[in-house]
Amino acid sequence: MVNIKNYLRLNKLPHIWCPGCGNGTVVRALITAIDKLGFKKDEIVVFTGIGCSARTNAILDFNTIQTTHGRTLAFATGFKLMRPEMKVIVITGDGDGAAIGGNHLIHAARRNVDITTILINNSIYGMTGGQYSPLSPQGAYATTAPYGNIEPPFDICELVKAAGATFVGRGTVYHIHLTIDLITKALSHKGFSFVEVISQCPVGYGRRNNMRSPYEMLLWQKEHAIMVKQADKYSKEDLKDKFLIGELWVNHERTEFMDSYNALVKRLSEGMKGGEV
Ligand code: SF4
Repeated sequence: MVNIKNYLRLNKLPHIWCPGCGNGTVVRALITAIDKLGFKKDEIVVFTGIGCSARTNAILDFNTIQTTHGRTLAFATGFKLMRPEMKVIVITGDGDGAAIGGNHLIHAARRNVDITTILINNSIYGMTGGQYSPLSPQGAYATTAPYGNIEPPFDICELVKAAGATFVGRGTVYHIHLTIDLITKALSHKGFSFVEVISQCPVGYGRRNNMRSPYEMLLWQKEHAIMVKQADKYSKEDLKDKFLIGELWVNHERTEFMDSYNALVKRLSEGMKGGEV
């Protein structure tokens, strides 16, 4: 079994997350996947932005870079271009990654840069005040939606798939073995890989939405998730308030961004040798 302590900055513990928060479970899933794949700690760089999800890099003992709100993928892309041999991981939340950083997310997927993004979706801005995010369910309560959110949420997995991501999966904190498996596959994939993890925020979201305990929130995940392989057994009506989990999309056909970039550099340098540009 993986020795979690080997991958944590023990002098930064205890962490600042609320009791019952799902973020720690996602950290454990990531560490388990990395341990399974046998990466050395120095081969990895983890980028985060702002928010509760961003606090992961305070405790993870890899190379870690905390960036500005929502701009994480822009920093990570620049880094990947300079150091393509490194395994680049972005950890973000639904506010950081889908709202403020939504545009960067779309374009990282479009470019098919070899980065793994883990988006922890707890349906709320947890750290910055409990505002609703583009992934908050319609009707959910938030500090900025005291009468219920009237906006429909994105299906963020469908969005990144449409934008060009080549590996897309969705897990939950409750389905932790599936989540570990998805992160393992995402890290092994060449190209832009994306894993959404449905998580619980009992403090920012749960207490405003009639789910006061982490237990109730985990039960909600269990009861609302349907394995994508079993989806065709359900009617449209049955699936109405459910979400699909599992490996949602894999595409090995698209060229990864660095391969296109290196081909361009080669073409130009050969042209220059021959006197053409
Ligand atoms: S506010 Fe929510 S997401 Fe943030 S640490 Fe607390 S429980 Fe976790």
